[in-house]
Amino acid sequence: HAKQKGNHYLFFNDGMNEQAVKRLQIENLMRFGLKEDHFVVYYQPKMDIKSGALVGMEALVRFITPKKGIIPPNVFIPIAEETGQIIDIGEVVLDKACRDVKTWIDAGLFDGRVAVNLSAKQFSLPDLTTRIDVILQKNQLPSYFLELEITEGTVMDDPKEAIAIMRSLSARGIHLAMDDFGTGYSSLAYLKQFPLNTLKVDKAFIDDMHSERGRNMVDSIVTIAQNLDLHVVAEGVESADQLTYLEALNCQTIQGYYYSKPLSYEEFTLFLRNHHAQ
Ligand code: C2E
Ligand code: CA
Ligand code: CA
Ligand code: CA
Repeated sequence: HAKQKGNHYLFFNDGMNEQAVKRLQIENLMRFGLKEDHFVVYYQPKMDIKSGALVGMEALVRFITPKKGIIPPNVFIPIAEETGQIIDIGEVVLDKACRDVKTWIDAGLFDGRVAVNLSAKQFSLPDLTTRIDVILQKNQLPSYFLELEITEGTVMDDPKEAIAIMRSLSARGIHLAMDDFGTGYSSLAYLKQFPLNTLKVDKAFIDDMHSERGRNMVDSIVTIAQNLDLHVVAEGVESADQLTYLEALNCQTIQGYYYSKPLSYEEFTLFLRNHHAQ
């Protein structure tokens, strides 16, 4: 609706206008932030539920601006997806994650995989595999140490094409995880065709485990994963009760505040040293 206000025609109501201004602000901050290196990578440990051993970590981007402080991923990632800036941000994250994990491997502190989130825009880049190869080479990191987390929305957009892309990544020895499983519109028929290694149970399902319905839901998801021979990671685990129940379901790996929140490079290095000392 166009409404007249003085000499101006306003095509949006004030609320929408405010939102558009905020979006533009964040878009500009991100453009500046890419130039000035304001994107930092944090790491959250993934732990083996039975042994309590560290099995890997997820790289999570943090946008730290000098003027507006920390802008959370839930705020800037959706905008970056729309503007396409997620492609550059994603490459910065992949590059830093490879660089950081290489230092931990070289120091004898770690021997597993670092998981990096791959957005839909990145996934459908025609030269995706070349870009990844270049970053791995630059950091002298064998592809064995990399895992990519891909959401249902990303692969269900064009499942046939997605299978081809996933195969070329998998052929390099890169592991693939389906992220936020159960929140999108995955079809079970496709799920078994995707060359996946891991299925991540979304935090929303873990949050619901206080009710019997919620627990049954997690039970079903874990059973699907096990029937497909997929490794299961439960994300957002915060309590011992959740842990106990997941252990009874034979879910192998836990990621959540119960063990640790995401840590800076320095904090994660300390975490690894302490873990090794045990
Ligand atoms: P995600 O991939 O599902 O990542 C898990 C999110 O859950 C992270 O939020 C993590 O900090 C949070 N989390 C883990 N355990 C717990 C817990 O026990 N309690 C609570 N309350 N939260 C927990 P974060 O870091 O804010 O990231 C949010 C989302 O932003 C991610 O969800 C992912 O979709 C996106 N994201 C983050 N980094 C990247 C990136 O580098 N690239 C892309 N494309 N997306 C990213
Ligand atoms: Ca993820
Ligand atoms: Ca997730
Ligand atoms: Ca999630």
